[in-house]
Amino acid sequence: MSSHNKYDVIIIGAGSLGTPAAFYLARAGLKVLVLETVASVGQGSNKRAIGGIRATHSDPAKIRLCLRSIEIFSTFKETFGKDIEWDQCGYSFVAYTPREEKILKDLLTIQKSYGLVNNWYPKDDLLKIVPDLTQEGLIGGTFSPYDGSASPLLSNHAYYTLACELGANFRFLEPVTGMSVNNNRIETVSTCCDTYSAGVVLNSAGAAATEIGKMTGVEIPVRADSHEAAITEPVARFLGPMIVDIRPAAGSTNYYFYQHTTGQIIFCITPSPNAWGEDVNETSSFLPMVARRMIEIMPRLKNIRVRRTWRGLYPMTPDGFPIVGWSQPVSNFLLGVGLCGQGFMLGPALGELVTRMVQNNLQPDDAGTLQYLSPLRKFEGQELLK
Ligand SMILES: Cc1cc2nc3c(=O)[nH]c(=O)nc-3n(C[C@H](O)[C@H](O)[C@H](O)COP(=O)(O)OP(=O)(O)OC[C@H]3O[C@@H](n4cnc5c(N)ncnc54)[C@H](O)[C@@H]3O)c2cc1C
Repeated sequence: MSSHNKYDVIIIGAGSLGTPAAFYLARAGLKVLVLETVASVGQGSNKRAIGGIRATHSDPAKIRLCLRSIEIFSTFKETFGKDIEWDQCGYSFVAYTPREEKILKDLLTIQKSYGLVNNWYPKDDLLKIVPDLTQEGLIGGTFSPYDGSASPLLSNHAYYTLACELGANFRFLEPVTGMSVNNNRIETVSTCCDTYSAGVVLNSAGAAATEIGKMTGVEIPVRADSHEAAITEPVARFLGPMIVDIRPAAGSTNYYFYQHTTGQIIFCITPSPNAWGEDVNETSSFLPMVARRMIEIMPRLKNIRVRRTWRGLYPMTPDGFPIVGWSQPVSNFLLGVGLCGQGFMLGPALGELVTRMVQNNLQPDDAGTLQYLSPLRKFEGQELLK
């Protein structure tokens, strides 16, 4: 094999994780190759994300990682000179029944113990933050002022440009088709066009992570779950935070929406039961279901016209937490998979974390984070705020 085809790290998939990882690895001085099936970056699940970024999770690993991602997203323009449409709009989880009130207040205790500054606001105080919420039945809700949103496409493209400037090599239209394993190490990575080798191979193939794992004999419990989203025409800004309603209803467990800095309302629903599979054709049931729920909670939305719907894949794990760690038994195979419904927000912090793993240069908190995300865990728990 020519020296051209030898790398320190090969990244499979230029998505929410692979592209930031390419930048951080290249910035650490490593020779990086990114192999991607399609013609440009961010075209898998990344561009289907609605752009929500929050640290308000229910476990220390995602809280810690997303706090770091928020630092990166919120200073991206100053640090890198690129506008990714970051907006520190906050998140508000609303409660219309005692069930949600209890869930949210219990979670606040955990979240505060990990340093989050979100709070519970009784009805009248919450209405000062979100005046257009339906008042009838409203008990209150949480508000986390430091959460926000950004553009997944702009962010991914910004990381791509930055990674290229540092010498990372992206090869598009080159799906990985096979890998050879010898002595518990990946020796070569083959695509339709060529064969490569590297000290480390990072699986960041999103919904295709399991298929990539099989090429090395490693089983990865990730499967695709299909979610729909939509965007309206732009209107003058009237809505501050991302609104999340966790009341289950026929066909959905929760839904969330926010107003982008450019005026559009962007929204999404979590289907119930899960829509397992890789179908990304829009359905006729999504829009009537989510629109009715949104107008109930915020009647002011009823005159805004929807411009487009789309559907994409959550790469789900059995417990709703990502899988990040060295695979066993293939020792140079690093997994950054199963990012579920939070891969866009986790991408930057995970990109830094995998870089520290490759460099064997972990920070004190990393061991705890990696324990939560370990490929070897039993997958028995269940994420509370999916
Ligand atoms: C409707 C919707 C809304 C969402 N909203 C949010 C949100 O608000 N905030 C948030 O954080 N997350 C959100 N998500 C989730 C987020 O999009 C995913 O978690 C994230 O994009 C997964 O990142 P990834 O890097 O694992 O995969 P991807 O971004 O899909 O990247 C994987 C890449 O691997 C490539 N690939 C696959 N197979 C191969 C192969 N054989 N060889 C080479 N390349 C290959 C693919 O082409 C793809 O580009 C949303 C998802 C959906 C569907």
